[in-house]
Amino acid sequence: MELVTEAVAGRRDEARHCAWCGRRLPDGGRIGRPRRYCAQPCRQRAYERRAAVQRGGLPEDAVVLSAGELADLQDRLFQLRCAAEDVATAAADGAARAELRRLADELVDTARGLERLR
Ligand SMILES: [Zn+2]
Repeated sequence: MELVTEAVAGRRDEARHCAWCGRRLPDGGRIGRPRRYCAQPCRQRAYERRAAVQRGGLPEDAVVLSAGELADLQDRLFQLRCAAEDVATAAADGAARAELRRLADELVDTARGLERLR
């Protein structure tokens, strides 16, 4: 999961995301250190997880997901694949433009939901 987060963080020209939950951060615009978390609870949970990770002897920048968080992420990845397959199937079947548009909008909505990591 570390690779996923690094890939997100590495796209600096794109929108920034909360380092805990992955939700999109509002555009900063202010001078100084950019915010890393969307809200105080995310900052707090990230601190607690970091402390627990350090007690476990893992590197400080290790990204640890609980089994439940990973299962949730996998569910949403599966939903994204289904939405993408719906678009591909409809296109292969020669679906009308309006239908393709509707399926593409669903795909975008599903992908947007995946920006949230937890
Ligand atoms: Zn957050």
